[in-house]
Amino acid sequence: MKILCIGRNYTEHIKELNNEKPDEPVIFTKPDTALLKNNVPFYYPDFSNDIHHEVEILLKICKEGKYIAPKFAHKYYDAIGLGIDFTARDLQSKAKEKRLPWALAKGFNGSAPISEFLPLKDFSNLENINFSLKINGEVKQAGNTSLMLFRFDEIICYISKFITLKKGDIIFTGTPKGVGPIQKGDKLEGFIEDKKMLDFEIK
Ligand code: MG
Repeated sequence: MKILCIGRNYTEHIKELNNEKPDEPVIFTKPDTALLKNNVPFYYPDFSNDIHHEVEILLKICKEGKYIAPKFAHKYYDAIGLGIDFTARDLQSKAKEKRLPWALAKGFNGSAPISEFLPLKDFSNLENINFSLKINGEVKQAGNTSLMLFRFDEIICYISKFITLKKGDIIFTGTPKGVGPIQKGDKLEGFIEDKKMLDFEIK
């Protein structure tokens, strides 16, 4: 499987990092070794001093496709989850300065904690899903999918022009505002609506 991620998909988050609003989705990948499942702890790596949390809604791909047409896009994902796109902001800033890729800043081991997935039928409106992240009990990020620049179906169409989607692939759909650093000892809890999806520690 592979992990595909959308950068800069929420206006308020674009502003907080002083980035430009993209005309097309910004896509990057993480290797499968980035995954953390079942709420295992995240071990803070020694190559960064500025790991940021980015809470994001996930799509689970349910069948193979490329050049997917807009009207069929909804058939290619069948479940929604919650994930954290951990980002070594110090490495990413250095890479941005030198116009180098983000692979290490975004794809290091454990940089993609993910929840269980909920079937699409649990959601009455995919364009109105609330999700949030608490750290040590305090809400740090709260978003709603209505605020995305590129909607789920647009993301599916766009990526599939370049990269064939396969069953089991996961898409991170972008983070709302409120990103910030994590510290050793923090307890992270992620929610979709009122349902707790993630609950793990930073060690
Ligand atoms: Mg992100």
